[in-house]
Amino acid sequence: MRKILLLCLLAALGPASLAAPVTPERMLQAETNGDHWLSHGRTWSEQRFSPLDQIKDGNAAELGLAWYFETNTKLGLETTPLVIDGVLYFTGAWSTAWALDAKTGELLWKHDPEVPREASIKACCGVVNRGMAAWGNRLFLGTIDGRLIALDRDTGEQLWSQQTTDPNEPYSITGAPRAAKGLVFIGNGGSEFGTRGYVSAYDAETGLLVWRFHTIPGNPADGFENEAMAMAAETWNGEWWKYGGGGTVWDSIVYDAELDQLYIGVGNGAPHNRRIRSPGGGDNLFLTSIVALDPDSGEYLWHYQQVPGEAWDYTATQQMILAEIPWEGQPRKVILQAPKAGFVYVVDRENGELLSAEPFTTVTWASHYDMETGRPVEVEGQDYDGEPAWVYPSPIGGHNWHPMAWSPDTGLLYIPELDMGMLFDEILPVDYKHLKRHFNTGYDISSDAQSSQRFTQAMLKHLPKAHLLAWDPVKQAPAWKLPHPNIHNGGVLATAGNLVFQGTSDGRFIAVRADDGEVLWTFPTQTSTMAGPVTYRVDGEQYVAVAVGRGGALNMAMGKGFPVGNPNNRIMAFKLGGNATLPPMPVVEVPPPPPRMEATDKELQRGRELFNRYCSRCHGADAVGDGSIPDMRRLDPVWHENFEAILLEGLMEKAGMPRFDDVLDKQDVRNIHAWIIERAHEDQALREESGWLASIRQKATDTIARATAWLIRVTTE
Ligand code: CA
Repeated sequence: MRKILLLCLLAALGPASLAAPVTPERMLQAETNGDHWLSHGRTWSEQRFSPLDQIKDGNAAELGLAWYFETNTKLGLETTPLVIDGVLYFTGAWSTAWALDAKTGELLWKHDPEVPREASIKACCGVVNRGMAAWGNRLFLGTIDGRLIALDRDTGEQLWSQQTTDPNEPYSITGAPRAAKGLVFIGNGGSEFGTRGYVSAYDAETGLLVWRFHTIPGNPADGFENEAMAMAAETWNGEWWKYGGGGTVWDSIVYDAELDQLYIGVGNGAPHNRRIRSPGGGDNLFLTSIVALDPDSGEYLWHYQQVPGEAWDYTATQQMILAEIPWEGQPRKVILQAPKAGFVYVVDRENGELLSAEPFTTVTWASHYDMETGRPVEVEGQDYDGEPAWVYPSPIGGHNWHPMAWSPDTGLLYIPELDMGMLFDEILPVDYKHLKRHFNTGYDISSDAQSSQRFTQAMLKHLPKAHLLAWDPVKQAPAWKLPHPNIHNGGVLATAGNLVFQGTSDGRFIAVRADDGEVLWTFPTQTSTMAGPVTYRVDGEQYVAVAVGRGGALNMAMGKGFPVGNPNNRIMAFKLGGNATLPPMPVVEVPPPPPRMEATDKELQRGRELFNRYCSRCHGADAVGDGSIPDMRRLDPVWHENFEAILLEGLMEKAGMPRFDDVLDKQDVRNIHAWIIERAHEDQALREESGWLASIRQKATDTIARATAWLIRVTTE
């Protein structure tokens, strides 16, 4: 009787009350227990490989939708959910967190940290969030305005909150914290605006700061924080601290339980143009490096720098996977990383020795790595010194934050690859002006008609392509490549069922056979996916879940990748025999464009330049929006009526649309407005043509618009 009563009580309390704490033992067991997804990369080793095999290559065709959950926003969704004891936790726009019943998708709680909407200007790439960490009975979440927040896992209530950044500086947090040893590790973003990167460790219980490690030196006159900074300062020149210098740790932080080391992935230089940042050269440590730290003290242990003197927004922030692979006949503990620079790096994690660096995509900035020194051999002219240069990979990278996966079963690394270049046209150091609230890259690409034409020609000669790429790190070569119809595809999950899962930008969620790349199952998701999928088991059934929705740097800057409407972003969960269905696509009414404004060709051209400089990183190059935020060509009349007040008086600041009165005056705003209305008429003319020819023309126009004007004040973080 007592037992029955207890069971009734537990049932009444729901699944969240059964939560067991996340302990070191549990984290280690998770390497072989696939029921839960305990950390950003599932386990400490961050392989995004699950030992679950109920869903497998032989039955993947029987997969169907089990449930979906609406986030009620179109703003970007980059999250990797955590799944613990039958509850799925995820984050979304404005650093909001949700808890769902992992079996049904039913909402258990929601936590909104109420990020001040003015903070959107600090988010280089949308007000996105990539996930949470779990420790004990708590969850940890970083916010766009730089806070680290501890939540009660059962209720979503805030337990403590710490401001991890100076609110007066353009820092933001979009990355997932990581937890180990009772500590929570968190970095930040903001290099493009001009910040100095660092990582902090907070006590999970009290929320107090335990240590902080800066990734690049500050002003030597202020003294160095530690010996590592004094060493790093030897590799810098000029007055880099005035520009921030960069090196933000905005995504990958990995705890190595076998070696008791913490690895951080350090970002690009600020500005990207190294002649402004560090005149006279230098390696600029620890930009674009993997740095190993003592997790308890934050003390420097070793580093491996991938791109000395980085000049293209290349970062070592992309996902690090801890694995053991056979190397020259011996098992070797390694870090596998395929970051923006376009090489797969295999690094010995005991000491940082480079074992392999081979290109996995088109690479032109370096010919190869000198394996004696571990340094790249740069290709002459690619650093855009005095002459514009067309460089592969682009600042978006050969692979960005979209998680990759490693299968110890197949011995293959599954990379969402992007084969794309970009034109770098230097802003000379004498002409450089530092802007606090805007991108400071030190180059430009659309400033004049000549460079715009150069861009189009180069882009058309080598159109951007994307693949799901299986890479064999032992053979140092690709095993197979699955081409995708569109760029900007989602993260990857590998399972013991000989499967790889990926969401694509053209609106599919696919299951692929892991050993040969054969597509076994496809589900139409109605919109693009960026995030990495997860898998878990509840009541004996295996589920695969993924956050579906576009937004983020690539989509926002390069316009719509998926040619139909855009539903709200969702979490979708799949299982064998699932038979739920999605609601019909929303019907979007496009308002007619307002009458053209009086403007000269020169004013229209100026409007385009200013738009592409300040607005395109969110509203899309040449105003081709991705649908995650309003498309400027399809505005309702009320926005046209208030256009100047929005840009110069901050009328919509509280809704997340920043003001631009620090860089634009009334005439600038008029020029931008006149050009946007011109674009609205062009858009309408295209839509009014009917038939297949018009549809092709629409697609081609959008593609060329993206190609001609993708201006890259826009990158990733
Ligand atoms: Ca960057």
